[in-house]
Amino acid sequence: MTRDFDLLIIGAGPAGMAAALAAAPSGARIAIIDDNPAPGGQIWRDGVQAQLPAAAQRYRAALAAASNVQLFAATRVVAIAGPQQLLLEDDNSAWNVRYSTLILCTGARELLLPFPGWTLPGVTGAGGLQALVKGGVPLTGERLVIAGSGPLLLASAASARKAGAQIQRIAEQASLAALSAFTLQLARWPGKLLQATQLLDSHYRSDSFVVAALGSEKLEAVRLSQSGKIIEIPCERLACGFGLIANTQLGQALGCRVADQAIAVDDWQACSRTDHYAAGECTGFGGSELALVEGAIAGHAAVGEQHQARALWPQRARWQAFARQLNRRFALNPQLKQLAEADTLVCRCEDVPYSALAERSSWVDAKLHSRCGMGPCQGRICGAACEYLFDWQTPTPRVPLTPTRIDSLLQLAEAQVHG
Ligand SMILES: Cc1cc2nc3c(=O)[nH]c(=O)nc-3n(C[C@H](O)[C@H](O)[C@H](O)COP(=O)(O)OP(=O)(O)OC[C@H]3O[C@@H](n4cnc5c(N)ncnc54)[C@H](O)[C@@H]3O)c2cc1C
Repeated sequence: MTRDFDLLIIGAGPAGMAAALAAAPSGARIAIIDDNPAPGGQIWRDGVQAQLPAAAQRYRAALAAASNVQLFAATRVVAIAGPQQLLLEDDNSAWNVRYSTLILCTGARELLLPFPGWTLPGVTGAGGLQALVKGGVPLTGERLVIAGSGPLLLASAASARKAGAQIQRIAEQASLAALSAFTLQLARWPGKLLQATQLLDSHYRSDSFVVAALGSEKLEAVRLSQSGKIIEIPCERLACGFGLIANTQLGQALGCRVADQAIAVDDWQACSRTDHYAAGECTGFGGSELALVEGAIAGHAAVGEQHQARALWPQRARWQAFARQLNRRFALNPQLKQLAEADTLVCRCEDVPYSALAERSSWVDAKLHSRCGMGPCQGRICGAACEYLFDWQTPTPRVPLTPTRIDSLLQLAEAQVHG
């Protein structure tokens, strides 16, 4: 089956929802697809324990009310099926979608770096723990250490505390000087300053990073470097994430140019490929406010409303300045490249240790010699880690873009045979 749309939006996070709502009044036939069961993306992720803010509810209601916008939830992109055509898969079937214009709003994922013990049960990403909490995982009475970098650590701590966790430490790798400079700048964005004040936690420490997760069968304690001093903190959970990296894979597969590890766009949020746009964190980390305004600009531009798109440029510039501060002040300490030991697994899907990779010259060389990145996550975790650890470039992904069903692959082959 093939469905036709004027505008196809991949990703129903803040950027995707804003793009759909900006484009909807034009009357274009719009489809928005997302691999999660409900729209909202990462920040507005739904779940039994999620408390959706008013803005998220407003966007969801507006999306549901737009009669020319069709939402396909729990649906993912499997392959490029032809010119302006993708193969999609949901829980029951695979189908083709043909589009005139496409907006990529595929967001970002956490950067997880390997350190001794990071594969122990009880260790997750910082955003990963937040997703678990929203999904209903109880943390009552559990001692929790949060580590890594970025504002997400404080947001994750707040959610975990509400779910019953006892926060033992929030270890931010950025220096005190960087954090002070960031805080001074926050007065330019009063809403952010208020948010930061509300999230502030007495367990927060700068110049601190995880050295090892300790335990035999499961996590029992965390070893941290705190202002150069090594300390150990007993705990049942460690949530550790080193900031976010853009989900560029689909954009790369479609031939859109990637620069500085994000999909490159111009002032209209247009990609290097004609009729393809991108917005939100797949174009670089900047928070939900920037994602929303970029999404709206892309939505207007995609349906030819340049005037409305241009009117939003000053708003975007304001949040781009905030994004620059985030990226500058939370830049990663090069010491984090030394955390993994020879036997630390880097690719946990295929059990590939650091020692098997350290001598390799590139990502392809590593894959050919070790199966690194060839497991179920298809390098989404270890590929980004290797990019940071070894400065390797990950090549353009090949289809299928995600692990997929055999009958979906057969459908792809059939579509290619019949043109
Ligand atoms: C794990 C995690 C938790 C976070 N939690 C917070 C938080 O609590 N507070 C905060 O301020 N910021 C949080 N962030 C930052 C947050 O990502 C952004 O501020 C905001 O959500 C970005 O919006 P976006 O629309 O660009 O991307 P996202 O919100 O990431 O939305 C992208 C959507 O696209 C979907 N998608 C991607 N690729 C495909 C595909 N091929 N097929 C189908 N669907 C696809 C994704 O599943 C996702 O739903 C979090 C980030 C991460 C990675």
